[in-house]
Amino acid sequence: MDTRITKLFTIKYPIIQAGMIWCSGWELASAVSNAGGLGLIGSGSMYPDILREHIRKCKAATANIFGVNVPLLYPDIDKHIQIIIDEGVRVVFTSAGNPKTWTDTLKEKGIVVVHVVSSSLFAQKSESAGVDAVVAEGFEAGGHNGREETTTMCLIPSVVDAVKIPVIAAGGIATGRQMLAAMALGAEGVQVGSRFAASAESSAHESFKQKIVQAREGDTLLSLKELTPVRLLRNKFFDEVQEAEARCADKEELQKLLGRGRAKKGMFEGDMDQGELEIGQVSALIHDIPTAPEVLHRMMQEFTAAQKALSGLQ
Ligand code: NDP
Ligand code: NDP
Repeated sequence: MDTRITKLFTIKYPIIQAGMIWCSGWELASAVSNAGGLGLIGSGSMYPDILREHIRKCKAATANIFGVNVPLLYPDIDKHIQIIIDEGVRVVFTSAGNPKTWTDTLKEKGIVVVHVVSSSLFAQKSESAGVDAVVAEGFEAGGHNGREETTTMCLIPSVVDAVKIPVIAAGGIATGRQMLAAMALGAEGVQVGSRFAASAESSAHESFKQKIVQAREGDTLLSLKELTPVRLLRNKFFDEVQEAEARCADKEELQKLLGRGRAKKGMFEGDMDQGELEIGQVSALIHDIPTAPEVLHRMMQEFTAAQKALSGLQ
């Protein structure tokens, strides 16, 4: 399939595996890239030496292009950027911050830069900053989320109309049917997170993967809006946050309750009660833990079948 996104990354399928903290290390990223998509190492949870190790292992595991997702609020971001440049990474997805800060530096080194946005305004700012494409991520997405709560169905056409650069749709996409819908809205590729978090090559804890499989409609909610909005699976920790929010706890109390390293505790170490479990609404449609190549294969099959079914409409 040829779109501006497949051409930009020289990939076979317009499917990008989202960079997810504690879930997407080199094993997942290289498996996706080997199978014809674009794999991303999620650097937000990695100390600089760990990131270097993952990039090197990824290079050894695939001859295909792969990238690194860098949340711009990461504390040691200068070190991460330097490692990315030194190791010759060809693609960087930036998120959670201002795309003006690092885009020029990365592009001067010939790196393709994509920024993740949750509104048309941020998409236009990203285009002005010189990025090659944007990921437009809707409210359905897991983890950190836009404050305006615009859903993928509304966000994609708005962003597509607002910018000239290609748009990658994200938030609520785990199947080929959803991919076709996103492309009908004007996206030229899709970024898929939750589906890959529950794949064999994901570095997430097995208990977290099983919890994703068990999730049903309504089991994820946007939480901690007073701090940084984040979509979480319900668990004991989530209930404690809800209870605190219901009695209008201030930011300081919420921050204290959140503490440090909650995401690691839940997603990487497998504490299903006290950990922060970041996953998208689409977890309700995830019922198994396939390999990453199987995810890509299924999505493309579903996409083609859905396209065929629609072609019969008059
Ligand atoms: P990996 O190559 O998958 O992991 C190597 C190291 O990475 C380990 O120290 C591991 O921590 C840590 N690690 C693994 N996955 C993550 C992750 N998603 N986020 C943060 N740290 C992670 O096989 P190994 O078991 O040899 O792990 C290699 C290193 O990469 C590990 O240090 C691992 O922690 C790190 N890594 C980091 C990831 C991340 O997102 N930050 C993801 C995958 C690996 P540990 O020793 O506690 O298992
Ligand atoms: P916390 O402040 O609660 O904890 C920091 C975590 O990051 C710890 O588990 C720590 O590992 C690990 N870490 C890796 N590198 C560093 C470093 N240089 N300095 C300090 N800690 C480091 O943060 P969160 O767990 O909520 O978020 C971690 C990162 O992930 C942040 O950079 C955040 O921006 C990013 N993030 C990105 C999201 C996205 O959607 N892209 C979603 C959520 C978070 P250890 O416990 O081993 O010390």
